[in-house]
Amino acid sequence: MIKSLCVYCGANFNGDPLLLKAIEDLAVTLVRQHITLVYGGGSVGVMGVLADEVLKHGGKVIGVIPQFLMDKEVGHKGITEMVITSNMHERKQRMADLSDGFVVLPGGFGTLEEFFEVLTWLQLGLHGKPIGVLNVVGYYDHLFLQMEVMVQHRFLKQNNKDLVFNEANPQVLIEKMSSFSATPDEVWFKDRNLT
Ligand code: AMP
Repeated sequence: MIKSLCVYCGANFNGDPLLLKAIEDLAVTLVRQHITLVYGGGSVGVMGVLADEVLKHGGKVIGVIPQFLMDKEVGHKGITEMVITSNMHERKQRMADLSDGFVVLPGGFGTLEEFFEVLTWLQLGLHGKPIGVLNVVGYYDHLFLQMEVMVQHRFLKQNNKDLVFNEANPQVLIEKMSSFSATPDEVWFKDRNLT
């Protein structure tokens, strides 16, 4: 059962109304299902918009931010709980430990770095938590095409590619993620089986 979800997303926001609507829908879905939001703790960009939406609807928000980013990403003052870490590595570890799954919204390098790190941890069987990309307005279409190229070139196994949910509708994404049942051992076993 998913009680908390970590959302990786941009420290920038492009103002796209379709993205804003998707963020609102995701926030409402989280609050309705009593799922706590775990995120990077900033008040800027998609991060800030998402945190504000969850709070507006009465949800719980935990931010995890390193001290040195408190000014740069303008640590959110109104969230339920703020965890201050001493560095980026500790931030990512705490975010992962606090969460039952991971959702990726549009973002830049930071978002992709966080996404692929937690995805490689799943691939290696270090955790068995679901990972979903909320692919709003096709923002991540090219990334999924690149993954297909990686499969074609045999640098990525199809069943490892299939570990990621790719979905445009927040409610459907959370439903799919809730049914994800791989244990770390199963993931590891599946991976070895194909070699
Ligand atoms: P971006 O997607 O580049 O806008 O960044 C989104 C979030 O990812 C911001 O909170 C960044 O501080 C964070 N971030 C960027 N690089 C890293 C990293 N190497 N480890 C952890 N978080 C990062």
